[in-house]
Amino acid sequence: MSSERALPAGLLPALRAALHPGAVIDDRDRLVAYEADALTTSQGLPGAAVFPADRDELIQVIRLLHEARVPFVARGAGTGLAGGAVATGGVLVCTTRMHRILEVDAVGRTALVEPGVLTDSISAAAEVHGLRYLPDPASSAACTIGGNVAMNSGGPHCLKHGVTTDHVAALEMILPDGTPLVVGRGEDGGLDLAGVFVGSEGTLGVISRVRVNLAPIAAGVRTFLALFDSVADAGRAVGQIFDAGVVPVALELVDRETIAVVEASVFAAGLPLDTEAALVVECEGEAEEAAEDLDEAEKAVLACGAREVRHAHSEEERLAIWQARKKAYGALGRLAPDVFVQDAAVPRSTLPDLLPKFVEIAHRHDLRLANFFHAGDGNVHPNLLFDRRDAEQVARVQSAGAEIMALCVHVGGTITGEHGVGADKVRHMDLVFGEPELQIMRALRDATDRTGLANPGKLLPDEREDETT
Ligand SMILES: Cc1cc2nc3c(=O)[nH]c(=O)nc-3n(C[C@H](O)[C@H](O)[C@H](O)COP(=O)(O)OP(=O)(O)OC[C@H]3O[C@@H](n4cnc5c(N)ncnc54)[C@H](O)[C@@H]3O)c2cc1C
Repeated sequence: MSSERALPAGLLPALRAALHPGAVIDDRDRLVAYEADALTTSQGLPGAAVFPADRDELIQVIRLLHEARVPFVARGAGTGLAGGAVATGGVLVCTTRMHRILEVDAVGRTALVEPGVLTDSISAAAEVHGLRYLPDPASSAACTIGGNVAMNSGGPHCLKHGVTTDHVAALEMILPDGTPLVVGRGEDGGLDLAGVFVGSEGTLGVISRVRVNLAPIAAGVRTFLALFDSVADAGRAVGQIFDAGVVPVALELVDRETIAVVEASVFAAGLPLDTEAALVVECEGEAEEAAEDLDEAEKAVLACGAREVRHAHSEEERLAIWQARKKAYGALGRLAPDVFVQDAAVPRSTLPDLLPKFVEIAHRHDLRLANFFHAGDGNVHPNLLFDRRDAEQVARVQSAGAEIMALCVHVGGTITGEHGVGADKVRHMDLVFGEPELQIMRALRDATDRTGLANPGKLLPDEREDETT
C-alpha cells in the first residue's frame, strides 16, 4: 500500500455516517498509535482507522471500502510480531470494540465470540462451567481471538493441546466485498473451509465471529523448573523428556540473558543469575498421571545434567514461574528499546547444536540476544535487542536475523512457528514453498478477493500489488 495515497473524497463522511460516533480516526496524531504492531521495524501510517461496534457495522465498513476500492487491514490488539496489522495509506479495521462473548454452550462445550474478545476472557467466561479455552499465546492477556485465528497462534500449552486451528469449530468471515460467509470444518461433507481461513492473516477477509471449542479444566497440574549450566544440555533434555515417553503439556526454555532481565523486574521468580538455561516443565491430566509424568521428566532432565530441579508446591508458585516466562518479552524493554523476534520451528533434535550457534551469530553481529521459547515443539524465538533509531544497528539485526532464519531452514525448519508471515517473512516464502503451492494459495485469495484489497503485500508475494495500490 502506498503511503502517498489519499483516501477518496467522500469515503470518510460515508464511514462516519455508517458507524457510531467516534468510530473513525483520521488525524495524524492519533493514527501514530496504529502505525505498527509489535514488530516495530515494519511501520506505516494508515489513512484512517475505524472501530465498528458489531457485525453489521463491520459489514457496512467493508462494503464501503470495496466500493471505493480502498485497501484495508484488520487489526485486533496489534500484538502481532510479523508486521501483519499495518495499513500504510489504507484503512485499518480495528475489532477491539467487537468484544462480546455471545454464548457459552456448556453442554456442547463451545463458545461463540466476537473477534475482539481477549483470548484470556474466553477461559474466564467458561470457568464457571469447569471449562477453558486451551490455546494460550504468551500474549493471551492482551491479544484477540480474531488475531489468534488469523495467525493460527500457538502458545506454551499448545505442545500437548494443539494450536488455534485445532480449537476452532466454525467461523464467520466478511469477504472483501462485504459478503458474510459462515464456514465449518467440513463435518457436513465438502472441504474444511474454516481450516482454509484459519491462518489466512487477514488476506481473505475479516473474521467477524468465531465458535471455539472448550475443554474441561484439568484435574491435576504439576510443574517444575530445571536449572542448567549449559544451554546445549537444556536443549538435549528437551528431546530426552520425549524419549522417556512423556508429552508435557508445556515445555519452555529461558536462557541466562532472559533470566537476568526477568529477575531485575517485578516478575522475578527467584532464579539464580548464574543459570545458563532453565526449562519450565508442566504435566497435566488426572492427578496421579500428572505426577507420574513429572517424575519421568525429572529423571530425564537430571540425566542431561540439570544442576537443580525446583518444584512448584502451590498454585501461587506455579503462577510465579509462568509470570516470569510469559512477561519476559515485556521485561526486555529494560535492555533495549526494540526487540526483533525470530520465529522458526526446527526439529527438536537440532536444539543442542542450534542454540549455541544463535549466540555465536548474535555476538558476531555485536548484538545482545535473549532466548525464551516453546522448546517442546522446537519453536525457537531468538530475540535480538536493538534501537531502531540507529540505522546501522537495524542493518546488523536484519543481517543476523536472516542468518538465523537460513540456519533454521537449513536444518529442516520452517520460516515461522506461530507468529505468521505478515510483511516480515513474505520474502522468505520461496525458501519453503514451491511455485505450485504458491499458485494454489494465490488462487484461494483470488476466489475470495479478486480486487486484492484485503491486507495486500502480506503472507503471499503479491503479483498484483502494483495494480491495486
Ligand atoms: C509478548 C508477546 C508474546 C507473544 N506470544 C505468542 C505466542 O506464545 N504464540 C503466538 O502464536 N503468538 C504470540 N505472539 C504474537 C501475537 O500475540 C499473536 O500473533 C496474536 O494472535 C495476535 O493477535 P492480535 O489480536 O494482537 O492481532 P493483530 O496483531 O492485531 O493482527 C495480527 C494479524 O491478524 C490479522 N487479523 C487480526 N484480527 C483479524 C480479524 N478479525 N480478521 C482477519 N484478520 C485479522 C491482522 O490483519 C494481522 O495480519 C506474542 C506477541 C507478543 C507481543
